[in-house]
Amino acid sequence: MLIAKTIVEVRTVRWADSNVTWGLVPTMGALHEGHLSLVRRARAENDKVGVSIFVNPTQFNNPDDLARYPRMPERDCDLLRAEGVDLVWAPDPPEIYPPGYQTYVTVEEVTRPLEGASRPGHFRGVATVVAKFFNVFQPTRAYFGQKDAQQVAVIRQMARDLAFNLEIVTCPIVREADGLAMSSRNVRLSDSERKSAVVLYGALFGASEAWKHGERSANKLREMMTRFIEAEPLARIDYVSIADPGTLLEIEGRAEQALLSLAVFIGEVRLIDNMVVGN
Ligand code: AMP
Repeated sequence: MLIAKTIVEVRTVRWADSNVTWGLVPTMGALHEGHLSLVRRARAENDKVGVSIFVNPTQFNNPDDLARYPRMPERDCDLLRAEGVDLVWAPDPPEIYPPGYQTYVTVEEVTRPLEGASRPGHFRGVATVVAKFFNVFQPTRAYFGQKDAQQVAVIRQMARDLAFNLEIVTCPIVREADGLAMSSRNVRLSDSERKSAVVLYGALFGASEAWKHGERSANKLREMMTRFIEAEPLARIDYVSIADPGTLLEIEGRAEQALLSLAVFIGEVRLIDNMVVGN
């Protein structure tokens, strides 16, 4: 497994043989089984697999969150080597944002609700870094998790609008045994917070069961999720959403198909999760 720092190194490895297909898995490191599920899918569908590890400063709207983001590059490389990854790209921030850098990618409507409303500038940072990684790496396919449902929608929109020549593959959410969606931020939870964190899944599961039993009122589903989370003392709601899966705008009437999503602070750690109901 090669570990590259620079753009030049990545391009050299990527284009050593132009007939080879490459899958790219962009990550911020502190890897867990969620990331590894993307790596395995990429491994199965491409000749070679590249993984980027970059804690992208421009997508953090909160400097404290950036400072506290877990970093464990050696452990990450051991995990990726065991998965048969061919290339790890772990650039330092100035390689991506050299002095004088001034170009950003702004995706419009789909970035406005949900995470975009709670984290101003977040998707500008995400779209910019992913566009740069696509340009440098030029993968055949790129792999993203449904865990970040709006991120997938933003990247698909950007790839379509800017005609990136690659396939975007979305992979299902990997969960802990109790239902908590795996996340690099979970390591920041204390034992009691870790137990409380299952409320995100509990709220989604409860609403999706109600939907399966015929409840279609978006308001009722939102209320049900809100009440469930409010009963957990360590949890504080950022948002609870029943949205149109295409536009990500809130549904006011009947939810025939919906993205159920939420962002909740457990102590100081902000967690997100989602589930889709309907086709
Ligand atoms: P991150 O390192 O958090 O930026 O995540 C890198 C990629 O892994 C993103 O496409 C995430 O959506 C995906 N990912 C993170 N957690 C999970 C999970 N629990 N299940 C599936 N994919 C995930």
